[in-house]
Amino acid sequence: MQLSSFVSGKWVKGTGKQSALLNPSTEETVCETSTEGVDFEAALSFARTVGGPNLRKLTFRERGELLRTMSRTIHGKRDELIGLAIKNGGNTRSDAKFDIDGATGTLAAYADLGAELGETNVLVDGDGIQLGRSPRLFGQHVYTARAGVAVHVNAFNFPAWGLAEKAATALLAGMPVVSKPATSTAHVAHRIMELLVAEANMPEGSLSFICGSPGTLLDSLGGQDVIAFTGGSKTGATLRRGAGPVERSVRVNVEADSLNAAVLGRDLSEGDEAWGLFLADVARDMQQKTGQKCTAIRRVLVPREKVHAVLEALTERLTTIKVGNPEREDVNMGPVATAQQLADARSGTALLSDGATIVYSVKDQAPLGAAEGKGFFFFPTLLHLDTATAQSAVNNHEVFGPVATVIGYDGTAADAVRVVAMGGGGLVTSVYSDDKDFLREAVLGIAAHHGRVTIGSSKIASQAIPPGTVMPQMLHGGPGRAGAGEELGGRRGLAFYMQRTALQGDRSLIEAILGKKA
Ligand code: NAP
Repeated sequence: MQLSSFVSGKWVKGTGKQSALLNPSTEETVCETSTEGVDFEAALSFARTVGGPNLRKLTFRERGELLRTMSRTIHGKRDELIGLAIKNGGNTRSDAKFDIDGATGTLAAYADLGAELGETNVLVDGDGIQLGRSPRLFGQHVYTARAGVAVHVNAFNFPAWGLAEKAATALLAGMPVVSKPATSTAHVAHRIMELLVAEANMPEGSLSFICGSPGTLLDSLGGQDVIAFTGGSKTGATLRRGAGPVERSVRVNVEADSLNAAVLGRDLSEGDEAWGLFLADVARDMQQKTGQKCTAIRRVLVPREKVHAVLEALTERLTTIKVGNPEREDVNMGPVATAQQLADARSGTALLSDGATIVYSVKDQAPLGAAEGKGFFFFPTLLHLDTATAQSAVNNHEVFGPVATVIGYDGTAADAVRVVAMGGGGLVTSVYSDDKDFLREAVLGIAAHHGRVTIGSSKIASQAIPPGTVMPQMLHGGPGRAGAGEELGGRRGLAFYMQRTALQGDRSLIEAILGKKA
């Protein structure tokens, strides 16, 4: 089966050499794709000139309705998509649901926001300001949709959510989208695109899809265009150095690597609800998506006197993980996505273990339901490092797999902040404690280094949302190593796709232009 790109309103098959999309459990080819011969220039131009006007003439409410239809369309084929994610992503059913339900949930949340913003296509930013001696001379900041195209470049680990979360914000803001999934796991995104084109009544030019190598896609972007990228920090840096961003001020948002941390407070011990929450969150993040989650906990900070108990409790949980081909129902952790990811996970773990101790790993155990020597399987691995420094590999190298390191700290908030900050900026850190003084110092100290901090305390333990779950209402992104990007966050996510402009003049005229009292 050969996948296609959807550009300039039609499906186009690439010519020439094809890239194979594999089943990571068997290494068999599932399908192929190429973008050779796809006219990127024409695709971008079609999105700008046809898709842009089609979207901009809709109000937020109408765009919200479009997102609702997209969400329902994807949800309608949930089981089929889960099947594809198992085959081409090595996902367990539960991993696949996390991706696909995340996609439909995010689209639905932005559909609700569209309904809330209502019958307008301008966003008013803050209160108006009196500029002259009389109230008549007035200033008001507003946001309007940018007149270019939003190019979305996504990572391999969330083919459904990646497409949907970026498209939800851009389309609601009024920008047409050209979406490019990572090639290795593009099958799910391709099927979603087929469904949307066939069933979601998308305005012409509003959503295009590049299936395969990006080629020259980003080379000619201009000042009204934007790039939203998710992936490795090296690729992010390459994109930032492109002529578009450097010479033509193309706006770029980068979501990259992150050495997310979990911090256990000294006040907690076995039996406390927040202690159980902490262990569950760490173990889940090692297992879910085989650790291939940008938000997964990589560094587990534990007061030194509690390290032994934590290592024992985590090890007990890790022994219940059954690695293998997720086509089998008893398997609860699949392979990593590609041969390259497997090689990187192996070499990265070797790097981490230089100076740290491997506490739990699995040797001489065959993955369930896999042919001998086949599949990109990597077993969960837990390490321990007594004292971390800024040079420690754990503070510098992300292993994108089921690998975490327990790091000792002295139990004070100041030391927790110091060690967490050594990660160089991250997406999310979770802090577990019931001690208000510790939490105040730790949370506010960690906040400057992160886009999100979750607080795991005993009173909310039974209803806590795992730190690895990205909520459409809350910001996703983080400073430094994490790329300095910001996505989602409800209405905040729209700003990237819109231009903020200060309007100055007669108050009554500004109000007439905006169609409401400013
Ligand atoms: P990657 O190798 O950087 O690839 C990401 C995307 O960039 C893919 O679509 C890839 O296309 C494309 N790409 C590669 N080179 C490009 C170029 N020169 N120009 C334009 N596009 C280019 O990353 P990955 O292996 O897919 O993902 C793993 C990484 O993503 C991890 O480091 C993880 O931390 C990070 N990640 C971050 C987040 C977040 O939200 N912060 C979320 C998920 C993952 P091809 O596939 O066609 O090469």
